[in-house]
Amino acid sequence: MKIFVPAVAALLLTLASCSAQNGPAICAHRGFWKCQDVPNEQNSLASLKMSQDYGFWGSEFDVHLTVDGVAVVYHDDIKDGMLIHTTTYEELAQKPLSNGEVLPTLEAYLDQGKLSKRMLVLELKPESSREQADALIDHCIRALKERDLYRPDRVMFISFDLEMCKRLAVEAPEFTNQYLEGNIAPEELHAMGINGIDYHYIAFHKHPDWVERAHKLGMSVNVWTVDTVEEMQYLIDLGVDCITTNEPLKLRDLLNR
Ligand code: MG
Repeated sequence: MKIFVPAVAALLLTLASCSAQNGPAICAHRGFWKCQDVPNEQNSLASLKMSQDYGFWGSEFDVHLTVDGVAVVYHDDIKDGMLIHTTTYEELAQKPLSNGEVLPTLEAYLDQGKLSKRMLVLELKPESSREQADALIDHCIRALKERDLYRPDRVMFISFDLEMCKRLAVEAPEFTNQYLEGNIAPEELHAMGINGIDYHYIAFHKHPDWVERAHKLGMSVNVWTVDTVEEMQYLIDLGVDCITTNEPLKLRDLLNR
């Protein structure tokens, strides 16, 4: 498990440097869009900018590959009735987002992301084949390197695709790399070289000891998507490193109490 040692150091540094002194780091889920300041949309450039402007620790966002090899930031597999994996970017971009933006490419998103020091929590969405999954990882790494963002203190990876996490563990061991599905105990992931978990909060009701067990192995613990004060408090008390939320202001207020 040699590759894991620098990964642990990097992720602990990353989280330590970014999280609130007295609680978990605040990760805005798909940017900060649930606010009244401007008309906003999840995973838009505007929602990323809002998260940056409010100074949250980081922003989570979802990346898919189109059939013509463009990486796009969008949550669902289907946009305006078109399956992203089988549609060209030009077709997908014909209809704007509800806030008027063109569907953001990963490159446009990273250009905005580069404008602040906040963390970019990049979710690699499952693809239609292993080849496409590998192509998405290659694309993301290339785009990050081109922007001097291939840095563990600026970017971390999350995915529901265990194989993607396993490949990143080998290829980018210095980065925080969290598995999302919530169905694997920390020890098992650690044995695969994966250095973090980002699980739905229900997983931590079923297995509250997973937080401590992950920490004992030097793994980072993130949790999604936590929007109530009661749930936030439960997870703060459990000692998670990061909370991903649609209500980042609510979490900030709670941490500042
Ligand atoms: Mg996501």
